[in-house]
Amino acid sequence: MMLTIKEYLGPIKVINFHAISDGLWFEKIVKYLKNKNNIITCADLEANLKGELSIKNGVLLTVDDGERSFYDIIYPIIKKHQIPMTIFVSPKITIQEENFWFQEIEGFNHLKFKKICAEILQIPLVSFLHIKVLALIKSMQIHEVQEAIEVYKSKYNVHKKPFQNLTVNELKELKSSGLVTIGAHTMTHPILLNETDEQASFEIGSSVQELSDLLNEQVKYFAYPNGIPAIDYNQREVEILKDLGIELSFSTRFTKVCKSSNKFEIPRGEISNGQFDFRKKLVLWEHWNFLATLKNKRKEHLKQRKFMLDLIRMNNA
Ligand SMILES: [Zn+2]
Repeated sequence: MMLTIKEYLGPIKVINFHAISDGLWFEKIVKYLKNKNNIITCADLEANLKGELSIKNGVLLTVDDGERSFYDIIYPIIKKHQIPMTIFVSPKITIQEENFWFQEIEGFNHLKFKKICAEILQIPLVSFLHIKVLALIKSMQIHEVQEAIEVYKSKYNVHKKPFQNLTVNELKELKSSGLVTIGAHTMTHPILLNETDEQASFEIGSSVQELSDLLNEQVKYFAYPNGIPAIDYNQREVEILKDLGIELSFSTRFTKVCKSSNKFEIPRGEISNGQFDFRKKLVLWEHWNFLATLKNKRKEHLKQRKFMLDLIRMNNA
């Protein structure tokens, strides 16, 4: 018997997206995947890893953060093509109609913002002047980041930004469509490893609990903010999730899912908004990522974060 393309090609890949601006581009990806892969749900992946379901050439599509473009752009397309997707959201952001810190800092003057962070951290700016804002923020605790944003907004009279994420009603509509699985993504999107034990437990536990209450169903899936193993989360977070009865949690380690994949560190690869060579990336996958790493951008970011973390630790000692 000849194998179809769908049966022939390899193991499960989990593709992650964030905000999307171009519906035509996204639909191209959907059509391409529909043709070549089996687009699966989180529940399928869960069953597969438990050995209850065999999947050939499966692809799971996830979106982090629950930015509005999921409802405005992605949702009509997945309805049209009847394909499942999973989103990871914060119930606090949804219920209180707030923006995430990375949405709030858009448009900030970086130098001015870094000056405020220096005062909060009580570290002279000159010692981290070369560090990029994102690397700096990802080295801070979330309460410090929030404080810096508030100080900046009041000091420079920044007007309140419009709400950029999914509303409660939209989230409920997505759930009732039967196409969208909804998982948790903490309350305020901290880098969990920077937080105290108490705060990490709160961020994860409350997001699972409040989202379950909101959707009137037990939330079973979780995605770590930023998601890099040992840098953004570690075993502490895995244990918290196990205790909560979470079935699968998703990282951003860029590789394929295999039989031996840890249920609490499901790997995912990002396709960035508008990335035109997505076909090449989908085929090469972890090799594509390796080549990208050689180009050094990501390496430099991680180096800066490590520098900043050491500086903060030294300062606190
Ligand atoms: Zn996120």
